[in-house]
Amino acid sequence: MYGLGIVKGMYTTLMHLVRPPFTRQYPEEPVPISQRFRGYDFAWVEERCTGCATCAKACPHGVIDIITESLGDNRYAVERFDIDIGLCMVCGLCVEACPYDALFMGIGFELSSDRRWDLVVHKEDIANRGKFSAYYRTPLKEKIADREEITEIYNPSTGQNTPHA
Ligand code: SF4
Ligand code: SF4
Repeated sequence: MYGLGIVKGMYTTLMHLVRPPFTRQYPEEPVPISQRFRGYDFAWVEERCTGCATCAKACPHGVIDIITESLGDNRYAVERFDIDIGLCMVCGLCVEACPYDALFMGIGFELSSDRRWDLVVHKEDIANRGKFSAYYRTPLKEKIADREEITEIYNPSTGQNTPHA
Protein backbone atom coordinates (compact mmCIF):
# COMPACT_ATOMS: atom_id res chain seq x y z
CA MET A 1 0.00 0.00 0.00
CA TYR A 2 1.25 3.45 -0.85
CA GLY A 3 2.67 5.22 2.24
CA LEU A 4 2.90 2.03 4.32
CA GLY A 5 6.66 2.46 4.65
CA ILE A 6 6.18 5.92 6.20
CA VAL A 7 3.70 4.52 8.72
CA LYS A 8 6.12 1.71 9.67
CA GLY A 9 8.95 4.18 10.01
CA MET A 10 6.91 6.50 12.23
CA TYR A 11 5.80 3.53 14.34
CA THR A 12 9.42 2.54 14.92
CA THR A 13 10.30 6.13 15.81
CA LEU A 14 7.41 6.38 18.28
CA MET A 15 8.33 3.04 19.88
CA HIS A 16 11.86 4.30 20.49
CA LEU A 17 10.46 7.41 22.14
CA VAL A 18 8.74 5.39 24.87
CA ARG A 19 11.39 2.68 25.33
CA PRO A 20 14.03 3.01 28.05
CA PRO A 21 17.47 3.88 26.64
CA PHE A 22 19.85 1.06 25.70
CA THR A 23 22.90 3.09 26.62
CA ARG A 24 25.20 1.59 29.26
CA GLN A 25 27.62 3.61 31.33
CA TYR A 26 30.49 1.25 30.61
CA PRO A 27 32.81 0.54 32.37
CA GLU A 28 30.90 1.54 35.51
CA GLU A 29 27.98 -0.60 34.34
CA PRO A 30 28.90 -4.17 33.40
CA VAL A 31 28.25 -5.28 29.87
CA PRO A 32 26.13 -8.43 29.52
CA ILE A 33 28.24 -11.07 27.83
CA SER A 34 26.90 -14.07 25.99
CA GLN A 35 27.84 -17.44 27.43
CA ARG A 36 29.56 -18.23 24.14
CA PHE A 37 31.38 -14.93 23.88
CA ARG A 38 35.00 -15.32 22.74
CA GLY A 39 37.21 -12.80 24.41
CA TYR A 40 40.93 -12.27 23.99
CA ASP A 41 41.32 -14.76 26.70
CA PHE A 42 41.79 -18.45 27.34
CA ALA A 43 41.14 -20.90 30.13
CA TRP A 44 43.21 -24.05 30.34
CA VAL A 45 42.57 -27.06 32.56
CA GLU A 46 45.95 -28.49 33.42
CA GLU A 47 44.71 -31.82 34.73
CA ARG A 48 43.01 -32.58 31.38
CA CYS A 49 45.89 -31.48 29.16
CA THR A 50 48.14 -34.24 27.88
CA GLY A 51 50.59 -31.92 26.15
CA CYS A 52 49.65 -33.41 22.78
CA ALA A 53 50.06 -29.99 21.09
CA THR A 54 47.09 -30.58 18.80
CA CYS A 55 45.93 -27.06 19.63
CA ALA A 56 49.31 -25.62 18.64
CA LYS A 57 49.25 -27.48 15.32
CA ALA A 58 45.71 -26.28 14.63
CA CYS A 59 46.57 -22.63 15.19
CA PRO A 60 46.85 -20.88 11.81
CA HIS A 61 49.05 -18.17 13.30
CA GLY A 62 51.31 -20.50 15.23
CA VAL A 63 50.97 -18.48 18.41
CA ILE A 64 50.74 -21.39 20.84
CA ASP A 65 54.03 -22.54 22.26
CA ILE A 66 54.09 -25.80 24.18
CA ILE A 67 57.04 -27.54 25.78
CA THR A 68 56.57 -30.88 27.50
CA GLU A 69 58.73 -33.15 29.56
CA SER A 70 58.39 -36.91 29.41
CA LEU A 71 57.22 -38.56 32.61
CA GLY A 72 57.67 -42.02 31.09
CA ASP A 73 54.82 -44.42 30.53
CA ASN A 74 53.74 -42.30 27.54
CA ARG A 75 52.77 -39.39 29.78
CA TYR A 76 54.01 -35.82 29.58
CA ALA A 77 54.12 -32.89 31.90
CA VAL A 78 53.43 -29.50 30.33
CA GLU A 79 56.40 -27.30 31.13
CA ARG A 80 55.35 -24.36 29.03
CA PHE A 81 51.99 -23.36 27.57
CA ASP A 82 52.22 -19.87 26.13
CA ILE A 83 49.71 -18.12 23.89
CA ASP A 84 50.54 -14.83 22.22
CA ILE A 85 47.15 -13.16 22.38
CA GLY A 86 48.61 -10.14 20.61
CA LEU A 87 48.74 -12.23 17.43
CA CYS A 88 45.71 -14.40 18.15
CA MET A 89 42.72 -13.72 15.89
CA VAL A 90 40.25 -15.41 18.28
CA CYS A 91 39.25 -17.95 15.65
CA GLY A 92 38.82 -20.70 18.25
CA LEU A 93 40.38 -23.42 16.10
CA CYS A 94 42.71 -24.42 18.92
CA VAL A 95 39.74 -24.91 21.23
CA GLU A 96 37.89 -26.94 18.62
CA ALA A 97 40.95 -29.09 17.98
CA CYS A 98 41.68 -30.04 21.58
CA PRO A 99 40.68 -33.70 21.94
CA TYR A 100 40.67 -33.58 25.74
CA ASP A 101 38.49 -30.54 26.42
CA ALA A 102 41.39 -28.90 28.14
CA LEU A 103 41.37 -25.58 26.34
CA PHE A 104 38.54 -23.05 26.40
CA MET A 105 38.07 -19.56 25.15
CA GLY A 106 37.76 -17.11 27.99
CA ILE A 107 35.38 -14.21 28.37
CA GLY A 108 37.90 -11.56 29.38
CA PHE A 109 38.27 -8.75 26.86
CA GLU A 110 40.12 -6.04 28.73
CA LEU A 111 43.60 -7.42 28.36
CA SER A 112 45.19 -4.64 26.38
CA SER A 113 48.66 -3.51 27.29
CA ASP A 114 51.17 -0.98 26.03
CA ARG A 115 53.90 -3.57 26.37
CA ARG A 116 54.04 -6.18 23.64
CA TRP A 117 55.45 -8.93 25.83
CA ASP A 118 52.58 -8.59 28.32
CA LEU A 119 50.32 -10.02 25.63
CA VAL A 120 51.94 -13.43 25.88
CA VAL A 121 49.94 -15.37 28.44
CA HIS A 122 51.59 -18.25 30.25
CA LYS A 123 50.15 -21.40 31.68
CA GLU A 124 50.07 -19.85 35.14
CA ASP A 125 47.84 -17.11 33.74
CA ILE A 126 45.31 -19.38 32.08
CA ALA A 127 45.40 -22.45 34.32
CA ASN A 128 42.16 -22.79 36.22
CA ARG A 129 41.37 -19.23 35.32
CA GLY A 130 37.70 -19.78 35.74
CA LYS A 131 36.34 -17.29 33.20
CA PHE A 132 35.22 -19.96 30.77
CA SER A 133 33.33 -19.32 27.57
CA ALA A 134 30.84 -21.94 26.45
CA TYR A 135 32.06 -21.43 22.88
CA TYR A 136 32.34 -24.90 21.30
CA ARG A 137 31.83 -26.43 24.73
CA THR A 138 28.06 -26.22 24.98
CA PRO A 139 27.69 -29.95 25.81
CA LEU A 140 30.06 -29.35 28.68
CA LYS A 141 27.92 -26.66 30.25
CA GLU A 142 27.40 -28.81 33.34
CA LYS A 143 31.11 -29.24 33.86
CA ILE A 144 31.73 -25.60 33.24
CA ALA A 145 28.93 -24.73 35.62
CA ASP A 146 30.63 -26.89 38.23
CA ARG A 147 33.46 -24.45 38.00
CA GLU A 148 30.93 -21.74 38.82
CA GLU A 149 31.39 -19.69 35.72
CA ILE A 150 29.07 -20.40 32.86
CA THR A 151 25.95 -19.01 34.45
CA GLU A 152 27.69 -15.78 35.28
CA ILE A 153 28.73 -12.60 33.58
CA TYR A 154 32.17 -11.14 33.91
CA ASN A 155 31.93 -7.64 35.30
CA PRO A 156 34.89 -5.70 33.89
CA SER A 157 34.57 -2.84 36.32
CA THR A 158 34.93 -5.04 39.40
CA GLY A 159 36.89 -7.92 37.89
CA GLN A 160 34.29 -10.26 39.39
CA ASN A 161 31.59 -12.45 37.92
CA THR A 162 27.98 -11.58 38.60
CA PRO A 163 24.95 -13.82 38.07
CA HIS A 164 23.55 -13.95 34.56
CA ALA A 165 20.18 -12.19 34.41
S1 SF4 B 1 42.08 -18.70 18.68
FE1 SF4 B 1 42.93 -19.15 16.62
S2 SF4 B 1 44.65 -17.71 16.37
FE2 SF4 B 1 44.12 -17.74 18.58
S3 SF4 B 1 45.49 -19.25 19.48
FE3 SF4 B 1 43.58 -20.35 18.95
S4 SF4 B 1 43.89 -21.15 16.87
FE4 SF4 B 1 45.48 -19.61 17.25
S1 SF4 C 1 45.20 -28.05 25.39
FE1 SF4 C 1 44.34 -29.90 24.41
S2 SF4 C 1 45.20 -29.93 22.33
FE2 SF4 C 1 46.44 -28.51 23.56
S3 SF4 C 1 48.14 -29.74 24.34
FE3 SF4 C 1 46.54 -29.79 25.91
S4 SF4 C 1 45.31 -31.61 25.46
FE4 SF4 C 1 46.54 -31.20 23.63
